[in-house]
Amino acid sequence: MPYTKCRSAIVDLHLHATAEMAAAFHDLFVNRRAYTLQSMKPHPETERHYYFRPKAQEGRHPPALSLETLRRHLAGELTLGLYSINPKTQRSKWVAIDADYKNAIEHLLKLQYELTLDGVEPALEKSNRGGHLWIFFEKPALARDCRVYIYHTALRLGLPIKGAGLPEGIEIFPRQDEIGPGEFGNALRAPLGIHRGAKESRGWRFWFYNADYTLADQLAYLQRLRKVTEAELGRFVAGKEIPAEFAQHSKRPEVPERYYTSAPSEFRILDFVQVQRQVGRNWIARCPSCARAGRDRTGDNLAISVEEPRKYICWAGCTKEMIREALGRPIAQKRFA
Ligand SMILES: [Zn+2]
Repeated sequence: MPYTKCRSAIVDLHLHATAEMAAAFHDLFVNRRAYTLQSMKPHPETERHYYFRPKAQEGRHPPALSLETLRRHLAGELTLGLYSINPKTQRSKWVAIDADYKNAIEHLLKLQYELTLDGVEPALEKSNRGGHLWIFFEKPALARDCRVYIYHTALRLGLPIKGAGLPEGIEIFPRQDEIGPGEFGNALRAPLGIHRGAKESRGWRFWFYNADYTLADQLAYLQRLRKVTEAELGRFVAGKEIPAEFAQHSKRPEVPERYYTSAPSEFRILDFVQVQRQVGRNWIARCPSCARAGRDRTGDNLAISVEEPRKYICWAGCTKEMIREALGRPIAQKRFA
């Protein structure tokens, strides 16, 4: 199928979705009941659509993913992000390879071909600049094994892998080998829904190649794919480890770039800085105030609390006011009546 066809004109982004479709989608994709939602409106300053975890009502647990929420995702009424690791088992029903850069599709096709030589049937989903390559398991597989398999296959092909010094490259979901209690790992935009951040102003529905562009055909195609068995994956990863240069990266609990729990209008430092790495309970980034003065070239003066990203501090002593000023977002002066 020619790739240009993937942007065939769809006038109405909303589609009819049934409870059966939601159930099929659940069986394929859902690993745990926590989830994220993509904001319907872009952030007024960054014009990005952020993902946030739906908020719990006072004294209650956050809402758990229901079949009706999945159905609304398929219908296009909301857009879900899904987590890849079930915290009780450290397993996932799938591994997804996310690539979003200039040669992304070429790299994903190479990887897809290499995987088929193992008897795997990966499904390629179009995305903004690249795509997501999905592999499904007969029974949920250990996140660690999923990652070991893809790291080794990708490195054998000489494909760039993000992290370990490379700014561009494929990203592997699950992003962690395992997650601790209270952790979620990284969520990935759930397939078959509407990507609100796509270039088209109203968002865009990206489809899988190799099936017609209807929900029923897409789901039937995904269900038909041969699922990798536990024995096969065991063979693929036998005697292999996460490559050393990525081992540290794989222990990172999660990268905060798009996860928020507060109102989107509020100032959030993570919208403005590039996190370099995590050290203990902090994200580390270049301090904007230091940067403006030509300092902090190593990009590690600013520490942002992982647990409470509204708290941040510059080790070189810049005040909050100086940092906000440097970002063009000065703190409003309090008026005393
Ligand atoms: Zn500073």
